Amino acid sequence: MSNSDDSNSANTTNSSPWAGFSTTAIHGGEQRQKAHDAITDAIVCASTFSFANTQAVIDFIEQDQQRGEYARYGNPSDMVVERKLAAIEGAEDAILFSSGMAALVTLLMAKLSAGDEIVFFDQCYHRSREFCAKYLSRYGVITKQVQTGNYQAMADAVTDRTKMLVSESPTNPHLSVIDLEQFVAIGRRFHVETLIDATLATPYNLRPIAAGVDYVMHSATKYLGGHNDLLAGVVLGRKAQLADVRSLRGVLGGVNSPHNCYLLQRGLKTFELRMQRHNENGQRVAEFLSTHPMVDRVLYPGLPNHPDHELAVRTMRGFGGLITFFTKDPNWQAAARVVDRCQLARIGPSLGGVESLIEQPYVMSYFKYSPADRARFGIPDNMIRLACGVENAEDIIADLDQALRS
Ligand SMILES: *Cc1c(COP(=O)(O)O)cnc(C)c1O
Repeated sequence: MSNSDDSNSANTTNSSPWAGFSTTAIHGGEQRQKAHDAITDAIVCASTFSFANTQAVIDFIEQDQQRGEYARYGNPSDMVVERKLAAIEGAEDAILFSSGMAALVTLLMAKLSAGDEIVFFDQCYHRSREFCAKYLSRYGVITKQVQTGNYQAMADAVTDRTKMLVSESPTNPHLSVIDLEQFVAIGRRFHVETLIDATLATPYNLRPIAAGVDYVMHSATKYLGGHNDLLAGVVLGRKAQLADVRSLRGVLGGVNSPHNCYLLQRGLKTFELRMQRHNENGQRVAEFLSTHPMVDRVLYPGLPNHPDHELAVRTMRGFGGLITFFTKDPNWQAAARVVDRCQLARIGPSLGGVESLIEQPYVMSYFKYSPADRARFGIPDNMIRLACGVENAEDIIADLDQALRS
């Protein structure tokens, strides 16, 4: 935004000058000397940015100047977070949005036109599916869903109208892990762009850009913000490929307030520390649940019996805090009793924050779906989704044990 930002962003946007993950998360994208010599970035509360005179306006229009015009196109507080996120992800550019859904919707609307097709792996966040099926379809974009992890089915679904291949990894709430090598190979073979929603993995556990994926998106509401106190989303990739996405954000306006940007920037400083604990808690709690007499089965990529365990170990640094498990009793009331008896984990949707959250997907997200649709989307009545926070694993385990036994 300001001229002085410019020189600094040049060496932090594409790659971090630091070897360590936390060093990048703390210092990446930031100027060394900031306004008022403060150690932290200012929260710049401005909806508009003024010009000294008419010539300055004309210069701004005619030249590629690093300054602000109007905050729907960005402000200093969101630009510093964008540079930091790009440095953490190892991406050329990052565009910050007011939510994960605003990020996904703006990306897809920027890239797709009537008659285009996209191919999705079918395990996905229910609102992403809803946006494609209910809204994108009204603008003549066709969404094809193929079975998650069936790379042949994905390749077979590609036509000369296909513009994008989309998947989450790991998927929500089934925690299937995608083989990015095969996914990217399909995109390259047919000259189709690829998008990975890596919200559950985060840039700490998974590096989709290095694997050759074109676009990575995250709901920054989850692990990146990390404190269950903000909504944000980000799309990352190459600057030239993201130019039309940035322009459309300026039209649709899914931007963050400067205060929200500050919270996200603050949260990112402890990102690696939190992820290390989320990974440790996820693994320990998943192992505990997998041997519990009241638990039928556990879905967690870090468990040897997970179908994608070998791929996960080969391609991910850790497996996060999200665990999906099933009570032995198949009735939804039995799972509800376990959820209700938890005294540590709170009942709520979302994941990736410091506080553990627990929920029953059937009740929380699929209550109004028909039994046939729930079966199609793989949401049994007795499924429980636990998002481990960064509390101590012993306490999470003791609480689950009493909830399962009583
Ligand atoms: C939460 C979530 C989203 C949506 O993000 P919001 O910030 O809630 O809009 C998208 N994808 C995945 C995998 C998510 O978990």
